[in-house]
Amino acid sequence: MRELSERVGLFTDSVIRRMTRISDEYGAINLSQGFPDFDPPKPLMDALARVAYEGPHQYPVTYGAPNLREALAKKFQRQTGLITGPETQVLVTCGGTEAMMCAMMAICNPGDKVLVFSPFYENYGADAILSGAEPIYIPLVPPDYHYDPAAIEAGFRAGAKCIIICNPSNPCGKVFSRDELIEIGELAKQYDAYVVTDEVYEYMVYSPHVHTVMASLPGMAERTITCNSLSKTYSITGWRLGYMIGPEPILEAAKKVHDFLTVGAPSPLQEAATVGLAFEESYYTEFNRMYREKRDYFLAGLDRIGLRHNVPQGTYFVMVDISKFLELPQFSGWSDLEFCEWMIREIGVAAVPGSSFFREPVNNLIRLHFAREQSTLDEVIRRLSRMQELFV
Ligand code: GLN
Repeated sequence: MRELSERVGLFTDSVIRRMTRISDEYGAINLSQGFPDFDPPKPLMDALARVAYEGPHQYPVTYGAPNLREALAKKFQRQTGLITGPETQVLVTCGGTEAMMCAMMAICNPGDKVLVFSPFYENYGADAILSGAEPIYIPLVPPDYHYDPAAIEAGFRAGAKCIIICNPSNPCGKVFSRDELIEIGELAKQYDAYVVTDEVYEYMVYSPHVHTVMASLPGMAERTITCNSLSKTYSITGWRLGYMIGPEPILEAAKKVHDFLTVGAPSPLQEAATVGLAFEESYYTEFNRMYREKRDYFLAGLDRIGLRHNVPQGTYFVMVDISKFLELPQFSGWSDLEFCEWMIREIGVAAVPGSSFFREPVNNLIRLHFAREQSTLDEVIRRLSRMQELFV
């Protein structure tokens, strides 16, 4: 048989989603792929039930249901002060995943360079390869995940056409400060580069940190493509609803990619989700309080059982340091992936090996998420505490 595409040989399947499959196989508690184990808000479920009978059930408008796009444009306008045309500047996609892919395909030619922070959400690697772009990695240095602006400038000087910023950052929980975003934005302007942001965790930012929308900064709207999603904010990751907002010429290009990639996001789900966009501010405050409580509760549990971790400024992810386990003779020479597989089988908790997020050879971190009911988090801590028995 003839060889398949070289391009697809350049990346693996998603390790995050692979861990979910292994976790399901062993019936472990899945803290690998981030998604909640609780219901979406009732008004969304009621709307979905109503839509089941009232429709729509046929193809949506390719670029997104007009009422949803209008609601998204208003939301963005409230957040950024930017006048945003629902027809021309908003595209509804199948999850933030498709938004990112469309953005990259719209911007990049084969051989173009793109700046990606490391650790990074693993999709960006595949997005870059599929769009023909070559990533240049900018280290975010643990434990506080700071970056060196000189590395960004060097990347732009080397010709990078765009920079991807996941803010708040998956997997390290970094929230880029306003000053950092201004600094990066100024460099992007100086070197005439695009900025693609992934802001799907925008409402999971824990004070004193605050979320700044890159596009809202002076002069940034014309070169920023904001990718986002309804998945996390309304606990509907399975509905596959994302969106992209940006300047009209870029959106024109991205719309063409979307048109042939997916035609459109599911119309009944777009209709039902629009209800969420009309929620009062109190919904987002309560949502944030809930996740902050979960974060503090889970981190306190990790502390109690002596597992070292970072303190995420945003997102529902936490990086746990497994160095002390890898130093034990029974784990000698193990990769973090092997350790995660062992955890699924023997401890009953699924995590993502940190190496799938880092460009650098990092083998001592695993990613867990805490989008779980308190009772599940209790059970996770109970199970993880058994790992300490290895030391007695
Ligand atoms: N963002 C989620 C995570 O990192 C996964 C999203 C997805 O699988 N599409 O776990």
